[in-house]
Amino acid sequence: MSWPTDRDTELFDIVDAERDRQNRTVQLIASENFTSPAVMEATGSVLTNKYSEGYPGKRYYGGNEVVDQAEELARDRVKALFGAEHANVQPHSGANANMAVYLGLLQPGDTVLGLRLDQGGHLTHGSPVNASGILYRFVSYGVTPSDERIDFDQVRDLALEHRPKLIVAGATAYPRIIDPQPFRDIADEVGALFMFDAAHIAGLIAGGVHPNPVEVADVVTFTTHKTLRGPRGGCILSRADHAAAIDKAVFPGLQGGPLDHVIAAKAVAFREAAQPEFAEYARNVVSNAAELAEALASHGLRLVSGGTDNHLMLVDLRSFDADLSGKKARLALDRAGISLNENTVPDDPRPPYITSGLRIGTPAVTTQGMGHREMREIAFQIHRVLTHRDDDKVIDATRAELAELCTKFAPYPA
Ligand SMILES: *Cc1c(COP(=O)(O)O)cnc(C)c1O
Repeated sequence: MSWPTDRDTELFDIVDAERDRQNRTVQLIASENFTSPAVMEATGSVLTNKYSEGYPGKRYYGGNEVVDQAEELARDRVKALFGAEHANVQPHSGANANMAVYLGLLQPGDTVLGLRLDQGGHLTHGSPVNASGILYRFVSYGVTPSDERIDFDQVRDLALEHRPKLIVAGATAYPRIIDPQPFRDIADEVGALFMFDAAHIAGLIAGGVHPNPVEVADVVTFTTHKTLRGPRGGCILSRADHAAAIDKAVFPGLQGGPLDHVIAAKAVAFREAAQPEFAEYARNVVSNAAELAEALASHGLRLVSGGTDNHLMLVDLRSFDADLSGKKARLALDRAGISLNENTVPDDPRPPYITSGLRIGTPAVTTQGMGHREMREIAFQIHRVLTHRDDDKVIDATRAELAELCTKFAPYPA
């Protein structure tokens, strides 16, 4: 064997720097998490070398008898975890999982109902710049102005008016539980299919702190890397009668060879998520989010919908400081060692790349073992940075204090 012998320090120094950043700064991006060493071991395994277009037992290449076992294990584990009849573990991402469902169940031009992007929906729920919005006719529902929760009267009115082929539930920035049953009832009333995009909350569902949409939806899609804490990737669960259409849409419809190493890592994550410790983790994620939200509110920050009952919260900065956009706040917090993202708030007057809000989530900090005490400390530091955003001394001091805090909870100690 003659691999190159000189270490690629140019690249691996960058990897080391990123590990250092993850160990020394606070990760509050609601869609991020830290995976286990076992998940990373599978992701970095020899399964990356294999070509296996097709499905277990029906491949277009030889030598797949071992890889078949990994994909079958992943499918069996995820079906047991969520109580699903059918699973496709091949989507490379959450976006691909959603596109595959549309490809499998719809014709181009069909009408679909989804949550408005500026009120928490995802790009793949009909954004005009996304393939979903280009190929299908999306009609959007929103949240009520009064309590900023999904407006089910509007969902029903729009469904009766537009007669969609598919109703999509699920969100990328919505701080409340999404009850799947009213969507099912409305879908039945108008003869639509019902897809629940559980990208953000799959780990909360697996951990028993969010209702399981698999029981009522035709199809459930999700990412494996957010609250579920697995490798980057997507997954589709469906009723048995949609299995053939979904599988055909993923391959050969949308993708080529599956990422067998990532599918193996998904299998690892599905097993981890079935342990009692994971249910405790999910409860702690929600409890930490509630504590952080309460602490932020006590510093005078307004929370969209008044709080949270999942893993994330949205801060509306307008009443706190009319001059402070989401983007300005995010840049100041980044300098202080707090990573999060700017986010639109319902009916945001600012454009999506500026915004008036911040999205804050607790999946990563909970994985590294932080609790209520640390949530209050982080809330204090966020408030301090926002009010002293032009004071480099305060920013530097915050960064140093947070590095000390994070080092005590380092996810990947050297
Ligand atoms: C994150 C997310 C996706 C897309 O997942 P990717 O892996 O980034 O493609 C889809 N839907 C929702 C609701 C999401 O939050």
